Amino acid sequence: MTEVSDLLSPDDELEVIEAIRLAERETSGEIRVHIEKHTNADHYKRASEVFHELGMDNTELKNGVLIYLAIDDRHFVILGDKGIDAVVENDFWDCTKDVMQNHFKNRDFKTGLIEGITRAGERLRQFFPWQEGDTDELSNEISRS
Ligand code: CA
Ligand code: CA
Repeated sequence: MTEVSDLLSPDDELEVIEAIRLAERETSGEIRVHIEKHTNADHYKRASEVFHELGMDNTELKNGVLIYLAIDDRHFVILGDKGIDAVVENDFWDCTKDVMQNHFKNRDFKTGLIEGITRAGERLRQFFPWQEGDTDELSNEISRS
């Protein structure tokens, strides 16, 4: 069994949160990371459920992105809300996943997450640039269950 703390030290976690904060300085989009050990459900379905549980479907512009990891299952999903799916090319998330996967294979979860967050942020910025009065609609903290 892998503990989340084996994957991300407290300092690593702070760096991941900082990457989210920096990405969101450029875009109105909201990025969250959720980590759990295992699910019996289909991973995409479970990610959708977490997306809803975290209230990520309530952003004003429907531009939340969830990076969901099931660590014991060695599986992760990147899930964007409707507003993003409507504008981002289909293979964008696949390319982002490949980049992340390469780091995860080397057990470098911090770099994998930061790369994923940074890439998502860059793409979000193109379609959903930061605007005056933008708020932090969703916490940048890593969510766990
Ligand atoms: Ca925001
Ligand atoms: Ca946020």
